[in-house]
Amino acid sequence: MAESENSSGALSALSTESRSFPPSEEFAAQANATAEWYDRADADREAFWSEQAERLSWAKKWDTVLDWQPPFAKWFVGGELNVAYNCVDRHVEAGNGDRVAIHWEGEPGDSRTITYADLQRAVSKAANALAELGVGKGDRVAIQLPMIPEAVISMLACARVGALHSVVFGGFSPGALKARIEDAEAKLLITSDGQYRRGKPAPMKENTDQAVEGTSIEHVLVVRRTETEVPWTEGRDLWWHDVVDAASDQHTPQAFDSEHPLFILYTSGTTGKPKGILHTSGGYLTQAAYTHDVTFDHKPGESVYWCTADIGWVTGHTYIVYGPLANGATEVVYEGTPNTPHEGRHWEIVQKYGVSIYYTAPTLIRTFMKWGDDIPAQYDLSSLKVLGTVGEPINPEAWMWFREKIGGGRCPIVDTWWQTETGATMIAPLPGVTATKPGSAMRPVPGISAIVVDDSGTQVGNGEGGYLVIDKPWPSMLRGIWGDTERYKETYWSRFAEQGYYFAGDGAKYDDDGAIWLLGRVDDVMNVSGHRISTTEVESALVSHPTVAEAAVVGAADETTGQGIVAFVILRGGTAADDDAKGDEAIKALRDHVSKEIGPIAKPRQIMVVEELPKTRSGKIMRRLLRDVAENREVGDVSTLADTSVMDMITSGMSESKEE
Ligand code: ATP
Ligand code: MG
Repeated sequence: MAESENSSGALSALSTESRSFPPSEEFAAQANATAEWYDRADADREAFWSEQAERLSWAKKWDTVLDWQPPFAKWFVGGELNVAYNCVDRHVEAGNGDRVAIHWEGEPGDSRTITYADLQRAVSKAANALAELGVGKGDRVAIQLPMIPEAVISMLACARVGALHSVVFGGFSPGALKARIEDAEAKLLITSDGQYRRGKPAPMKENTDQAVEGTSIEHVLVVRRTETEVPWTEGRDLWWHDVVDAASDQHTPQAFDSEHPLFILYTSGTTGKPKGILHTSGGYLTQAAYTHDVTFDHKPGESVYWCTADIGWVTGHTYIVYGPLANGATEVVYEGTPNTPHEGRHWEIVQKYGVSIYYTAPTLIRTFMKWGDDIPAQYDLSSLKVLGTVGEPINPEAWMWFREKIGGGRCPIVDTWWQTETGATMIAPLPGVTATKPGSAMRPVPGISAIVVDDSGTQVGNGEGGYLVIDKPWPSMLRGIWGDTERYKETYWSRFAEQGYYFAGDGAKYDDDGAIWLLGRVDDVMNVSGHRISTTEVESALVSHPTVAEAAVVGAADETTGQGIVAFVILRGGTAADDDAKGDEAIKALRDHVSKEIGPIAKPRQIMVVEELPKTRSGKIMRRLLRDVAENREVGDVSTLADTSVMDMITSGMSESKEE
């Protein structure tokens, strides 16, 4: 056991990982970024970001790179650009109009191929339609759509006319949509008649109609997707195919200020009332394009890129819409769920389009592991070159599985840490430079500075854990919380006010080589006999046992130790735990395994085998609800859960389970 604690006891660092995978020589030789970038960026940060901003086409160049009045930043001050022009038109003007921008794959098996020239016409039509509906600079547009091309087109059309979009995930309830429409005072909603969900059309407009009632919404623009009958309010509701299709496909984009707001996005709600995170134009697009280029080693015209996120999350904004399209990427957009109509759907798509960059979430990787190795083995995945993950800490075992079973042992994996608030990737390896360790996001990308500090804001040493902070402003940083400056200051800037650090809310540690490991949310940290233990390390220890597919741990009140660790585990396909005697043995084996991997202090007091874990709609485990179960409390607010029945299942199982 390698345990070390820093003086302030911020967070223990328990696990050690010695495996390390350098890029191959061939990969390194052709990589977009080299090791020298770190030094160049450190030597003159503003000059470095200025160089990155040159990736974009500016109608007017900036006068000043950064104006920093903590905690308020302005980037590329005085510069002017049109974000949609950068993502679409300039590629057509450069002679790449015939390049495929989007290979769209519908859930029922229909598909569409959209070139940059097609995209330019589509976005221009939509922009003209918005203008006709009176939507212009500074107006807010709510978008609730499935993963169809019109979602991307709508976002770009808003950007083109200077309106802010507020995209709301398609699975959110009318109440959640209404709260977001009201908070942003949106005047237009773009939605669809229905959406495909696991092979069947499900209603959409019926729900959005409830959300729109009594709000500032003047018009609802409806895309036809499932051909289901929908309720209709004359005068308010308009079909996309009437209004947009009839509009001209010629539209001249106007340049906006670098700090002109681009969008509002409400965080997914793991931790409470959603916050409307505000992003602006020049700095955001610069960091989106730069990180997409260097962390994925993207080659325009060659790479086939696929980010599996939904556009309802920030990952969909930055790495489906703005980053890749600014870079002239050819990308796959998939409408459906990964097991419709079968569990090999993703690999079938990789094979069909020759996907070379595949970016997904750890929760999905663990699900693929659960479904079994034989599924990806049936497909040709040899086109893959780079793999990426985002959303949660990735357990080393899941990382290894991803590397071997999907990447054929040859693809660098980039574990990218970032948040809705940071706008783009902050901590990640460079695939052609960094020797990666399974489960570590490694180090900040060139140009970014982030450190791990103790309670007093002092940087901790190698082998020590604490709080992740960002100690220098960055181009794609949030510019505020919509309509609530106080909450912005309080949430992110008050914890380390003296030092002026941005507090990310995540725990992290340095390993003995100084690589950064994310340890989950600070709010989830467990306190066992005075040791501050991260959920991530115990969960990864559990997942490293061959029988475990997924694990979630929480600290529950304990008379002797302050808190005791309670673990909820999902077993891998093929592992049986029905037999009681065998079940007890299996649980003892798991407890011993954790003790052996990271030390007796982290041994779970209790382990429960479950079928499912409570997750947000973006696939993150909601430990707060499991804490309620572990402490026998009534389960709290479940409205942001993807599947609310999961909690009933777990609660009833819990009352039957035995404690040690
Ligand atoms: P809310 O703030 O409403 O609770 P959220 O934090 O889940 O929602 P996001 O901004 O989508 O919304 O998620 C960012 C968080 O996801 C990070 O703060 C971190 O906890 C986690 N995260 C993202 N990427 C990684 C990663 N590569 N490794 C570890 N954790 C990650
Ligand atoms: Mg968050």
